[in-house]
Amino acid sequence: MKEKIQMTTPLVEMDGDEMTRILWKMIKDELILPFVDLKSEYYDLGLMKRDETNDQITIDSAEATKKYGVAVKCATITPNAQRMTEYNLHEMWKSPNGTIRSILDGTVFRTPIIIDSIKPVVKNWELPITIARHAYGDVYKSVELRVEEPGVAKLVFDGESGKHDEVVIQNFKGAGVLQGMHNVDKSIRSFAHSCFKFALDRGESLWFSTKDTISKKYDAQFRIIFDEVFQEYKDEFDKRGLEYFYTLIDDAVARVIRSKGGFIWACKNYDGDVMSDMVSTAFGSLAMMTSVLVSPDGNYEYEAAHGTVTRHYYKYLKGEETSTNPMATIFAWSGALRKRGEKDGNKALKNFGDQLEGACFDTLNEGICTKDLVNLMEGITPKPVNSADFIAAIRERLEKRLA
Ligand code: NAP
Ligand code: MG
Repeated sequence: MKEKIQMTTPLVEMDGDEMTRILWKMIKDELILPFVDLKSEYYDLGLMKRDETNDQITIDSAEATKKYGVAVKCATITPNAQRMTEYNLHEMWKSPNGTIRSILDGTVFRTPIIIDSIKPVVKNWELPITIARHAYGDVYKSVELRVEEPGVAKLVFDGESGKHDEVVIQNFKGAGVLQGMHNVDKSIRSFAHSCFKFALDRGESLWFSTKDTISKKYDAQFRIIFDEVFQEYKDEFDKRGLEYFYTLIDDAVARVIRSKGGFIWACKNYDGDVMSDMVSTAFGSLAMMTSVLVSPDGNYEYEAAHGTVTRHYYKYLKGEETSTNPMATIFAWSGALRKRGEKDGNKALKNFGDQLEGACFDTLNEGICTKDLVNLMEGITPKPVNSADFIAAIRERLEKRLA
């Protein structure tokens, strides 16, 4: 057996719930620990531990991510009424992802894992398209009114200095609806920094789109801030032959559909909500979608985009065999280890991240896959296996690559 790869700085490890917690252990035991002398600061974000610590563990794990700069996270349950009874919870704890995102002030980037035998619905897409969604404000923090009679609606601002601004929204002749929404420069600026940093990280161009021809103050402010922040990154973009490209949202949609892929598309909150569902569906499978949270100061938290796969977990508890796809969770590990390697100048660790992903592709390219992919594969005979056998097949190929 070759010597294990050494690490100099710990990785923040956030464990999670249900089926993904089972996969987490299998991935560590089979694909990480035999090869890497893993240094990690472990936080158990499983729902029981969150309840036991009044969710302090989630806050601590986010603070640790700020300290060490790289984290890998397992999917976690966001409690609802049914989970309150199932886990006998003290409180309906907030989504851990929401808590971590607000502490890191980060942006979430979702990227599909692409393989030759799964063709995207859009046939000219050859490379992944990453969607970055601004996760603050707009319609998600708006207030609304239903008006039922004629009258005047106004937008009013009273500044602390005594400055007063008002504009008429509409002179209603009858019943209608009203909505007030906002955003803040600080959040837009953080979003822009995360996007430019992540574009350099992936070596891909960045597209950004709004509707600033119609929204001349609101959407225009997004464009202005992106332009400003870009000045800090422009030299590096030029040096790397990358582009920052701003266009109208409707033009962006048309170009995205005609493109080959291979870029990052930054979207305002609502556009990102809608477009990320469209893009991930067109690429094939939620089980093959990775997610990374990037803070404006360059901290990274890697995870799978899917949830804890509850339906499979209940089957697993009954002793039934499950064929849950571990790809996105494995790529969270490979992404985090590669980033740790990059930050520490640890070439062996960085290479390990690449080889682990390579071994996953070797396996899928031979048709060995989990059940969810069987009906998506073309031009190859799928050989469906359970999760454990799939991970074992990856390990075999990883050992060959590292020999
Ligand atoms: P989910 O866990 O993503 O699963 C939904 C369905 O998608 C599954 O039932 C399965 O379909 C398919 N699927 C997802 N990932 C798969 C994989 N790796 N391999 C094979 N099939 C996969 O979403 P959910 O059932 O709505 O949510 C379950 C729990 O996850 C909830 O408690 C929610 O709060 C949590 N959640 C967490 C995160 C996060 O931590 N980032 C994100 C979303 C949801 P079939 O049943 O048809 O096989
Ligand atoms: Mg959505």
